[in-house]
Amino acid sequence: MRDVQAGVPGPSGRVVYWTRPDGRRWVGTPLAWENGAVLKILISADMEGATGVTWPADVLPGTAQWERCRALFTSDVNAAVLGFYDGGADEVLINEAHWSMRNLLLEQLDDRAQMLTGRHKSLSMVEGVQHGDVDAIAFVGYHTAAGTEGVLAHTYLANSITGVWLNGARASEGLLNAHVVAEYGVPVVLVTGDDLTCVDAEGYAPAARKVAVKDHVSRYAAVCRTPARTAADIRAAAKEAAALAGRYEPVAGGPFTVELEFDAEHLADASTVVPGVARAAGERRVSYTSPTMYEAIRTFKAVTTIASSAVEEQYG
Ligand SMILES: [Zn+2]
Repeated sequence: MRDVQAGVPGPSGRVVYWTRPDGRRWVGTPLAWENGAVLKILISADMEGATGVTWPADVLPGTAQWERCRALFTSDVNAAVLGFYDGGADEVLINEAHWSMRNLLLEQLDDRAQMLTGRHKSLSMVEGVQHGDVDAIAFVGYHTAAGTEGVLAHTYLANSITGVWLNGARASEGLLNAHVVAEYGVPVVLVTGDDLTCVDAEGYAPAARKVAVKDHVSRYAAVCRTPARTAADIRAAAKEAAALAGRYEPVAGGPFTVELEFDAEHLADASTVVPGVARAAGERRVSYTSPTMYEAIRTFKAVTTIASSAVEEQYG
């Protein structure tokens, strides 16, 4: 943020805290401070909630429909980039968060933005938030949770998982990632997706701006608005959302108990090879408890990787 003033140095390490004029505490690295404390926005970009997307082939790399829809997806993301710069951002980093994480068309993005593309990142969908220099995050192209209504609803695995609960509450990817970024003191300021994704986001990021790019009809159908219209909506919302940016003290909300339900018993069984993961009540459920969300999301990744490797064609 540009409007910070020097405050009380923080507890330890490279991270320091500064008190903002509005009284909230801002977290930054000494390097960021010396460089003028830029306003940096991270965009976590998923594809199922993008404009015009309603069908598996729309989001499956390699299909003709995916080739078409990745331009629509890029349009949504670029609209958010433009809006954040309209609102005063100094830096925007886009983190690809869908499938192989190689979907966006770099050549169609605004030149001021940078994109983190490709797989194998320690924080997966919210990679980049952990370096102490991000002031806000946007969830663009998000969707609702596995086992609930919504266009292409799922939680991490496209199918196989029928439900995820975090400390007893039904968890979408948005909810899980909101808890991860809260540990770094980063607010979620913008969420886009179908109309039900916006309803879901009211639960985990009530202050964030929301944009519905389509209205849910079924898991594979939606009433869609054109990319020109959704780009205008997203750009306007992102401009407003930039004003919500500003790091706060990291939230230590643990411990976190994660429960997963699969569509087949053997997937639950396979998941228990991950240390700490045990069978839970119900034939197809496992659970584990982590002290932090950082550990919870990494264990979640291990569980989904192991479970998906146990899925066989036809029989599941
Ligand atoms: Zn997703």
